[in-house]
Amino acid sequence: MDDWLVPDLNRAACTRCGLCVDYCPTKAVEMVDGAPVIVRPGDCAYCGQCEEMCPANAIALSYEIRPPATPRPKD
Ligand code: SF4
Ligand code: SF4
Repeated sequence: MDDWLVPDLNRAACTRCGLCVDYCPTKAVEMVDGAPVIVRPGDCAYCGQCEEMCPANAIALSYEIRPPATPRPKD
């Protein structure tokens, strides 16, 4: 299995509204048999749109992406 960084899906909480699919800018998530599935994990930009749009808090990013630390100038 590939180790892609993708949102966590809580299937029990999901109401299957499809909003995460509608708003995913890369089409990484699709409805499969009526439920959202990250079908193209390599295309997930980890942007958080799905988390923002989900009315049930059923899809969420577990990790915070930060830019690399700015190197300190040398003395
Ligand atoms: S984090 Fe962004 S790219 Fe990844 S599934 Fe959610 S909306 Fe799509
Ligand atoms: S937006 Fe949330 S509740 Fe709606 S299908 Fe996606 S994960 Fe499920």
